[in-house]
Amino acid sequence: MSSLPVQRPGIGPRQVSSSSFADAFDAARSRLEALGVEEPGEDEVPSPALSSSSSTTDEVPSPALSSSSSATDEEPFSPSEGETPLSPVTPITGPGTSAMDPSVVDSFAFAFDIDGVLIRGGKPIPEAVEAMKVLNGENEFGIKVPYIFLTNGGGKFETERCRDLSQQLEIEVSPGQFICGHTPMREFADRYGTILVVGGEGEKCREVAESYGFRDVITPGDILKANAATAPFRRLTETEHRNSRDLLARGGKLSDIVVEAVFVFADSRDWASDLQIILDIAQSKGGRLETRSETFDEGPPIFFSHNDVLWSAAHEHARLGMGALRKIVETVFEDTTGGRKLKTHAFGKPQVSTFEFATRLLQQWRASQHGLSEAKPPATVYFVGDTPESDIRGTNAMNEVSENEWYSILVKTGVYQEGTEPKYKPRKLVNTVLDAVNHGIRREMARRGSRKATGGRMLPLDDLALKAVGEGHTPTFEVVDPFGDM
Ligand SMILES: [Mg+2]
Repeated sequence: MSSLPVQRPGIGPRQVSSSSFADAFDAARSRLEALGVEEPGEDEVPSPALSSSSSTTDEVPSPALSSSSSATDEEPFSPSEGETPLSPVTPITGPGTSAMDPSVVDSFAFAFDIDGVLIRGGKPIPEAVEAMKVLNGENEFGIKVPYIFLTNGGGKFETERCRDLSQQLEIEVSPGQFICGHTPMREFADRYGTILVVGGEGEKCREVAESYGFRDVITPGDILKANAATAPFRRLTETEHRNSRDLLARGGKLSDIVVEAVFVFADSRDWASDLQIILDIAQSKGGRLETRSETFDEGPPIFFSHNDVLWSAAHEHARLGMGALRKIVETVFEDTTGGRKLKTHAFGKPQVSTFEFATRLLQQWRASQHGLSEAKPPATVYFVGDTPESDIRGTNAMNEVSENEWYSILVKTGVYQEGTEPKYKPRKLVNTVLDAVNHGIRREMARRGSRKATGGRMLPLDDLALKAVGEGHTPTFEVVDPFGDM
């Protein structure tokens, strides 16, 4: 047995090294391939080879594939010993003020999904504005609580989405507290040369990809401009034609271009032509455009920024999301290749790796914005979401592997329909995000009250306090000094 200490992710200090989300991702993929793992779909029974991992193996492997045999098929991958932790996230903007504000709490924080929780159909959910005020000090305890946003959505620059969110929620939202579906993709910019970027409005996702450092970004529009026969029923608009790159101006043919990876950044605006182009590349000889593999096993990797089949938009019923396109890509690939399987990958919630990414963002945000210790994470992170399959599943899975508590709260303003039984159970079900915020704060205050009453010892919530919180009340003990026992 080695005498070297084993680095346990989440317990020992995080290593700051050249490792990154991308490295960890690749390591996990290689391990999967080395194991010869056939990846099941979400609701399929994992094969014996997968008994040590999870049913979400067809999604982006977290930095470490679990080697723990205790993992169930309900849990996304969890980190295992000996794996390289993810590198810290670099906030997009520089740090803000780090002046210590004594009213900022250190022991807990919030993380929010956006669509269906704070925003719906481009408009703020009414209670969301109030919820932000409560977090920013307008509460009975006079405390301010740090928070970040973690959405699977995307298709804009992070700075742009933050500007929109700032207006909608009447607060200032910084890119330093914001992660969208494609944010982790920026760590792959050094990995691939020519990539195909799919989804979003106009040229936006190409611009976002280039801002991440990707050097040679082509879009479905570029391919259609070069060969309109690629998608017989799609005609580029004049603007699309003008804005698309002229791939033939490189002085060659489309077949001179080799796509090294496909990234679906945001929801497709034209599923039929995007599906055709993604499948063409998946079935090509090593990513070379206009070619066809004989074996259908040499296409480049295909990444989706998330796997949400449904999302909450303006329509009364949830709308189809990128996860649906992903299913179609995989199904049609199989149907058109004589049964060959296509393995694609998805970032975003519920992947534990995405929550770990969020953890580091939160730590950096707390340090840069609030002057709190970056080394010591908050004891509890309250995650508020509307989608059991991504928000609640991911939060609960993170809670299993994290040294601090991740507490899932499900709201009724989005995908989850009241009266139905969610497949993944939250710790708390509430009506709106305002109820979620109040619940978290009261639960914390009850915990502190318990500690206060016992001379500062760390105790779980007492029965009375729990009951009061469960009923939506502030527990009736006196908080002498809400910061005194931290
Ligand atoms: Mg949502």
